[in-house]
Amino acid sequence: MLETLRRIVQQVSAAPDLPSALAITVNQIRDAMRVAACTIYLADEDNRELVLMATAGLNPQAVGRVRLDRRQGLVGLVAERQEPLNLEDASRHPRFHPVGDIGEEGYHALLGVPLIQYRRVLGVVLVQHTTIRHFASEEVAFLVTVAAQLASILNHAILSGATQELLNPLVSGSRALQGVAGAPGVVIGTVAIPHLMADLGDVPDRPTLNPTAEEAGFQAAIATVERELREASDRLAPYLPPTEQALFTVYRMMLGSDSLLGETRAGIQAGQWAPAAWRDAVLARVRLLEQAADPYLSARAEDIRDLGRRVLNHLRAAPIQPTPIMAGERWVLVAEEMSVAHLAAIPTEQLAAIVCLRGSALSHVALLARAMGIPAVMGLGDRPLGRFEGSAIIVDGYQGRVYLNPDLALRAEYQQLITTEAELSAGLQELRELPTTTQDGYHIPLYAKAGLLTDIAAARDCGAEGIGLYRTEFAFMVRESFPSEEEQYQAYRQMLAAFAPQPVVMRTLDIGGDKTLPYFAIQENNPFLGWRGMRFTLDHPDIFLTQLRAMLRANAEWNNLRLLFPMITTVEEVDEALRLLEQAHEELLADGWPTARPQVGVMIEVPSAAWQAGQLARRVDFLSVGTNDLTQYLLAVDRDNARVAGLYDNLHPALLKTVAYIVEQGRVTGRPVNLCGEMAADPGAAVLLLGMGVDSLSAGPASVPRVKWAIRSVTLAQARNLAVQALELDTARQVRCLLDEALHQAGLGEIVHQRD
Ligand code: PEP
Ligand code: MG
Repeated sequence: MLETLRRIVQQVSAAPDLPSALAITVNQIRDAMRVAACTIYLADEDNRELVLMATAGLNPQAVGRVRLDRRQGLVGLVAERQEPLNLEDASRHPRFHPVGDIGEEGYHALLGVPLIQYRRVLGVVLVQHTTIRHFASEEVAFLVTVAAQLASILNHAILSGATQELLNPLVSGSRALQGVAGAPGVVIGTVAIPHLMADLGDVPDRPTLNPTAEEAGFQAAIATVERELREASDRLAPYLPPTEQALFTVYRMMLGSDSLLGETRAGIQAGQWAPAAWRDAVLARVRLLEQAADPYLSARAEDIRDLGRRVLNHLRAAPIQPTPIMAGERWVLVAEEMSVAHLAAIPTEQLAAIVCLRGSALSHVALLARAMGIPAVMGLGDRPLGRFEGSAIIVDGYQGRVYLNPDLALRAEYQQLITTEAELSAGLQELRELPTTTQDGYHIPLYAKAGLLTDIAAARDCGAEGIGLYRTEFAFMVRESFPSEEEQYQAYRQMLAAFAPQPVVMRTLDIGGDKTLPYFAIQENNPFLGWRGMRFTLDHPDIFLTQLRAMLRANAEWNNLRLLFPMITTVEEVDEALRLLEQAHEELLADGWPTARPQVGVMIEVPSAAWQAGQLARRVDFLSVGTNDLTQYLLAVDRDNARVAGLYDNLHPALLKTVAYIVEQGRVTGRPVNLCGEMAADPGAAVLLLGMGVDSLSAGPASVPRVKWAIRSVTLAQARNLAVQALELDTARQVRCLLDEALHQAGLGEIVHQRD
């Protein structure tokens, strides 16, 4: 059976298109099971029908024509019950529904199996035979196994739009591809695929008869790449911190390396054609660097390889052309993984959005998209998007969704959303100078979040009262090596100066999980449960102390710093972090540096910390609840996994109860509780948190005006009443309905509409 299965899967996978794949499947199954007929129905969700799409043994004219209502006949029954149906004589079953001209007269035995992927019924596969008998358990097992494989192939086809074309050839796509929200905003644009890099390993050996011409071609390729890098660096300069720009300098230095160029020239003079001589010189360096134990050096191997591919593209007789960029077009850059250099391929004013098959909301490219103010969708998974070059695309950075080749109705809907959003944002500008005060005069401080120095402008413009969370690791992530104390001091000083006398909450380095440093690779099976945040920095007091010293020095001037420790799981971690903070302070005093002790807070983002919130609070000045992580750890749902994104919900009653407990502990110990997860950026949830007694909120600059609007539209009494009701509910959906209703009543229906 395994051999037959393997053969079917192999042949189906090699099929040129979906109709051929289905035809191969039905024929193979019919032969393997020695039955009279095998038929596949696919679900047409738009029309709530099951459509006969392939058959071996029934009337071939029925393909594409026979459409059954999802509740009709035995096919409908299999889809409805989502389990195999094994009947010795189908025609005697009460749900049997004869279909004219289908050619099933004389068939009795029937076995139907649903095609299911991620809980969705994608179709039904049916085998029929002339005898009256039940199918044996091995036969059922075989068909179930084939169906599971087929469902996964079909899922792929659905995502790429192939099934949609097949089921409704005249209707263009309106199906969403779900990923992870990377940066907010909505855009309608055209897909651009960045330059496909040639692979060094594929370069064949070839002699040259004219080394002089070959060398001239090589020099020209080097000069072109050098120019491209310079242009890219200039174009992105306004958006990149100086540390990030340094990457381009490193590339240019490598490109000018005498030994690399010299070795290539020697290879050419020895009779090799330029691509092979370049390949040998580059790969020799890559191998050397890859063997280095030092993570910084091994990370350089990838840089040299990347550079090697760039030059190679210009050396090839027929270089692979990048997407031609037409003036006026709004481009959405779509790639599996994206580097800063990819972004540089499109003029900044024409880059409308970014879509990345890999990565998460915290990936480097998502952060850059946020800094540039364009939407991004990340982590779409393994999908064949390459062939959609030049297609229309809608990117919904709020929901983490994209739509390829959207139909007119969907386009119009999104265009309306874009217009409404622009109007709403313009209207909300008026709130900028107004306080975040409820209708009955209660003021709750609303802070902005920031990650890079480039965020300063947006954070200052949005009408927040300071910075509630400055994620210092972002600046570490966009560099080539750990920043020195002096570099950090300069950056922190700039941040504190920009907001003084308003507070700036700076979180100490929170790497690990999916936030890795290019120069310090951490390989773990479960990175979110591994060497993250404070666990890492306590194991590296050298890195931690350098950061603390830089922060304390920066604070000496402005005294508006509040320090925050991330990913705390035990009381001992806080004690140790405080000891190191004291050590940094004393070292600075001894060295004669001006320094000022800041207020200190602990992030509550792990269930153990939540349940010890009281003990932790007593050791510090404030608490800050990180609901992004708290939700993932409490619900056991990876925050960046699109497959389980439906389960990730920070309105889950368990999360609300946990937050309520933390707030209560803050009250008992007299320590203020801030909430800095994405939950605080959701206007409905922000009102709920106000009602639950959270003392301050921190949201991304783009969300601050909406949150302010929501809070200014309600009374504290209404918010408290909402919190009492919400804490009684059983499901996140019920909580969402309650909040939406409250927003509608407060005259904020537009916000609810925008999110949906
Ligand atoms: C959080 O976990 O809620 C949080 C604010 O931290 P981050 O998203 O940076 O992990
Ligand atoms: Mg966190």
